Amino acid sequence: MTVDNADGTKTEYRVWNPFRSKLAAGILGGLDNIHIGPGKKVLYLGAASGTSVSHVADIVGPTGLVYAVEFSHRSGRDLINMAKKRTNVIPIIEDARHPHKYRMLVSMVDVVFADVAQPDQARIISMNAHMFLKQGGHIVISIKANCIDSTVDAATVFAREVKKLQEEKIKPREQLTLEPYERDHAMVVGEYRSQKKKEK
Ligand code: SAM
Repeated sequence: MTVDNADGTKTEYRVWNPFRSKLAAGILGGLDNIHIGPGKKVLYLGAASGTSVSHVADIVGPTGLVYAVEFSHRSGRDLINMAKKRTNVIPIIEDARHPHKYRMLVSMVDVVFADVAQPDQARIISMNAHMFLKQGGHIVISIKANCIDSTVDAATVFAREVKKLQEEKIKPREQLTLEPYERDHAMVVGEYRSQKKKEK
C-alpha cells in the first residue's frame, strides 16, 4: 500500500507475514532488539528466494547493505531478481559452509542473521562470524529443533545450540520460541566478543 505524504513524497507500507518469515515472527513475538536498523550491514545466511531479505533491505535502507547468501540455484534466481530492484542487496549464490569463497564480496558487518535450518548451523554461523562480524556485533539465528536432533525435546536442542555458540565467543542475550507462528523453533540473539579481556 502506498500513501501520499503532505510534502508530496510517497511512503510504501508492506505486509510482513510472521507465518512466513521467522524474523517477523521474532519481532512480533517480542524480541527486544534485532540489531538491524537504518545504515546497518547485515550478512543474511539462508536467503531463500529473498522474501525476508527484501524486508531487511527496507529496514537498513539506502545507507545499509544486506549480503544475502543462498546455495540453492533455483531460489537464487528469484533472489537475484529481487536484488535488481533493491540495490542495497548483494546476492551471493554460495554454500555458507565455505565463507572464504565470498570473502572478496563481503565487508565487515554489524549483524549475522542465519536461517539455514541445518544440523551444523552453529558451526556455519561461527565460521561466518569469525570472518565477517565486527567486535561487539550481533548474531540473530533461527533454530529449528527437529533439523538438528529429532530424538530429544526442543528445549534440549536449543540449550545445546546456545552452548555451542558460547564456545565460539558468542554471548547469548535474548532467546524466545516462535510460537504461535512456528512450532519448535527458537530465535536467539547473541553478542560477538572475540577478544579476551585485558589482564589487570
Ligand atoms: N530465511 C528465509 C525466509 O525467511 O524467507 C527462509 C530460509 S529456509 C528455512 C533455509 C534456506 O537456507 C533454504 O533456502 C536453503 O537452501 C538455504 N541453505 C541451507 N543451507 C545452506 C548453506 N549451507 N548455504 C547457503 N544456503 C543454505
